[in-house]
Amino acid sequence: MNVLVINCGSSSLKFQLINSETEGVLAKGLCERIGIEGSQLVYQPAGGEKEKSLASMPTHTQAIKLVLDALVNEKTGVIKSLHEIGAVGHRLVHGGEKFANSTIITEEVIAAVESCNELAPLHNPANLIGVRACQELMPEVPMVGVFDTAFHQTMPEKAYLYGIPYEYYDKYKVRRYGFHGTSHSYVSKRVAQLEGKPYEELKTIVCHLGNGSSVCAVKNGKSIDTSMGLTPLEGLLMGTRSGDIDPGAIEYIAKKENLSLEEIMNILNKKSGVLGISGISSDFRDLEDAAFKAKDPAAIRALDAFHYRVAKYIGAYVAAMNGVDVICFTAGVGENGPETREEICSYLGYLGVTIDPEANKVRGKEQVISTPDSRVKVYCLPTNEELAIAKATVELVG
Ligand code: AMP
Repeated sequence: MNVLVINCGSSSLKFQLINSETEGVLAKGLCERIGIEGSQLVYQPAGGEKEKSLASMPTHTQAIKLVLDALVNEKTGVIKSLHEIGAVGHRLVHGGEKFANSTIITEEVIAAVESCNELAPLHNPANLIGVRACQELMPEVPMVGVFDTAFHQTMPEKAYLYGIPYEYYDKYKVRRYGFHGTSHSYVSKRVAQLEGKPYEELKTIVCHLGNGSSVCAVKNGKSIDTSMGLTPLEGLLMGTRSGDIDPGAIEYIAKKENLSLEEIMNILNKKSGVLGISGISSDFRDLEDAAFKAKDPAAIRALDAFHYRVAKYIGAYVAAMNGVDVICFTAGVGENGPETREEICSYLGYLGVTIDPEANKVRGKEQVISTPDSRVKVYCLPTNEELAIAKATVELVG
């Protein structure tokens, strides 16, 4: 079956058409600046050139219409008619406590996702706009929602509760949810396959390190803890997000700088993390260039803090699982940053982790990067959230 995978943001939309039998990507691309002047479609058929075309996209429906037209285009299309699309899989960010699994999208499901909008105001409404647009253009095609939060619904209460009055959990569901669940689930399952071991018997730590970053402890096939919380701001230092911070610091800065809560949240989300510490960039390539080539102290400081925080979470999750069998590095930096992996693993000698410097040169490929005698196996393992969404969609649609 061909599955159209849609990841819809407020002004952009990424798509992939995946054949679920071969797991091959038939075409992929994105629509940028939807509803804004200068919108463009980027489209790439498998084995073909990437095409960029300026096109008017006042609405998401218009954008998806352009994607569908491109997929059936006589010259560069990859299918003859839209009937060849068997299902659409939508990335949905926040399913709250309502969704512990992917689900076929019905009107009741849409209403339930809408009720989680307050928990992810930037993402959920945009995701649902994508769902509505697809429903309008492909009314007969089944749609499936795959949630970033679902995989972490197995976290025990002791891991997801904050140390605040319980009434806030009772009344408002203020708790830790975790994100990047589709990626953590995909990578932890894939590594079990590569290891030839039952998923239900492994203790795995997945480090999803990209612009947004999180670590997840997967014990016996279940997420038992992860570093993001109620929102994707908690946990690791990220490109522009602070990660863990004493709430007392927020009050202190607000008073000193005369800032509103909204302004402070904007700083913690958009001007902090490695960008905030370095003052150089949120992009790890820029920072690694500045740190390793130019020996820039601000870039070194930011990367040191980033590596240290990841290592600290790994240590916490080894404790939470009473051991670890495999550690996986994934996402933009995890897959492509040998220096990042090496620096983080340099903290893990106490676990008997030893890295093979030759193997660790790998970028963007599945590979064991630890030495044969390392007590814990370490992998570079590219994530594939789109394939995971396509597989979950086929499982439900049948
Ligand atoms: P993601 O959010 O997973 O797309 O990851 C984006 C981050 O990955 C950016 O900070 C990039 O700089 C980083 N990244 C991508 N390619 C490389 C690379 N070759 N070396 C180091 N970092 C990279």
